[in-house]
Amino acid sequence: MRIAMVSYEVYPFAKVGGLADVVGALPKYLERQNINVDIYMPYHKKVKQNAEKYGWAIEKITEKVDASMLRTEEKFEIYKTMLPGTKGVNVFLINNEYYFNADEVYAGPDLAEQAIFFSYSVIEAIRKLNFEYDIVHVNDWQTALIPVYLKTVFRDDPLLSKIATVLTIHNLGYQGIFEPEYLRFAGLPDYLYNIDGIEFYGKINFLKGGIIFSDIINTVSPTYAKEIQQKEYGEKLEGVLRARSSDLYGILNGIDYEEFNPLTDNKIYVNYDLNTIEKKKENKKLLQKELGLPERDVPMIGMINRLVDQKGLDIMAEIMDYVSLFDIQFVLLGTGEEKYENMFKKLGEKYPEKYSINLKFDIVLAQKIYAGCDMFLMPSRYEPCGLGQMYSLRYGTIPIVRYTGGLADTVKEYNPETKEGNGFGFEGFDPAHLLKAMARAIYFYNSKEDWNTLIKNAMTMDLSWDKSAKEYVKLYQRAKSKVQR
Ligand code: ADP
Repeated sequence: MRIAMVSYEVYPFAKVGGLADVVGALPKYLERQNINVDIYMPYHKKVKQNAEKYGWAIEKITEKVDASMLRTEEKFEIYKTMLPGTKGVNVFLINNEYYFNADEVYAGPDLAEQAIFFSYSVIEAIRKLNFEYDIVHVNDWQTALIPVYLKTVFRDDPLLSKIATVLTIHNLGYQGIFEPEYLRFAGLPDYLYNIDGIEFYGKINFLKGGIIFSDIINTVSPTYAKEIQQKEYGEKLEGVLRARSSDLYGILNGIDYEEFNPLTDNKIYVNYDLNTIEKKKENKKLLQKELGLPERDVPMIGMINRLVDQKGLDIMAEIMDYVSLFDIQFVLLGTGEEKYENMFKKLGEKYPEKYSINLKFDIVLAQKIYAGCDMFLMPSRYEPCGLGQMYSLRYGTIPIVRYTGGLADTVKEYNPETKEGNGFGFEGFDPAHLLKAMARAIYFYNSKEDWNTLIKNAMTMDLSWDKSAKEYVKLYQRAKSKVQR
């Protein structure tokens, strides 16, 4: 089986959020299942900078190729490299100096044009390279027009018509909603501007196109797959998703066990595993030192997040004064909306001995927080899968979460009677529930036996990609047999 995996971000080439981690890891594990995977992504400026920094070998494999169906004079070139840690996962980089030259991944002259240009170019690239894929696996709205192209304008193309398509929705909160004029730019037929096509409240919606035209759809956890078919989480696409419910699956993301291993992670201060768990404390001390917090043995609560509404920061805002009454420390690492950055900045100034506020993107500090903290906070409004709680579990850092989406699938409330469970949480999206969950965690921190059990339960969980990769293989087989039928 041969797969083309298409994504706007891929770790380690360019990462903004969890999507990059998923597309950077899944192919490694598919390769071990004897699946042949190629990755396609834009040759972002970030990738060029990282290539220089880390010395990756990237070669140009084509001269300029026309994006002939698009209303643009822009052309693209294909570059090629390999996914680190694999034997043969090729990464094809679509290069264009106008569309992919912004400092950030999701910036540039026009996000809609950029996504269309990339999606269309991937199809042209497949034709140019003359590769026969069984599956094109697209991710999120930036690539969701690929199934639309394949099932409409390329429906009779001998090379492309046999390809089955899988769409993974990593976050339904981002859909790619734009003016209808972009259909013309894309060279897509006008009839798609229709309620059964990609029309959406007078605009066009790229993700809706992907949901309607892909053979199989999945999201990144079983609970989120159910949630998004309901009004509360459906972001106005619940009806479209329900109509496809027989082709809609939920597969929990794994985490990269080689990259995220406290025993070998060279980004943390001191390596440890369950047998040498006392060394986790050294990470805490050194983190306190680095952040300028008092070096005391009090519960240290970490949080690493994009600072956006989704992450439940509004209910946090209501309780952080109460939280300061506990003998704890709180470490935040994140960037995002100004109102939240300001909120945390003020909290940091008000409680400098307790709250360490770090408004930046810093992968090394992130690892130190996963390793050094005792608890990890994710009170999300919704969470498709969530990687933060999985990394923290792996590092023996006990999650405090709202039980929604992937958080509900990975974190189980600690039960002191049965000694089962790996964290603490709450259901109703409410500041009082959050505060109570934090108080429970702090209470059990002071009961060493319970806390050691929690750490053991957390660190012995199987969160690896092996299991999930097998489920993806089944999904691909399903998609393939649908097309053959
Ligand atoms: P989302 O995909 O919604 O951003 P996830 O929890 O699935 O949330 O993934 C977020 C990833 O990005 C995690 O790997 C987290 O550690 C990382 N991350 C988020 N913000 C930062 C930051 N400021 N610095 C370093 N890493 C970050």
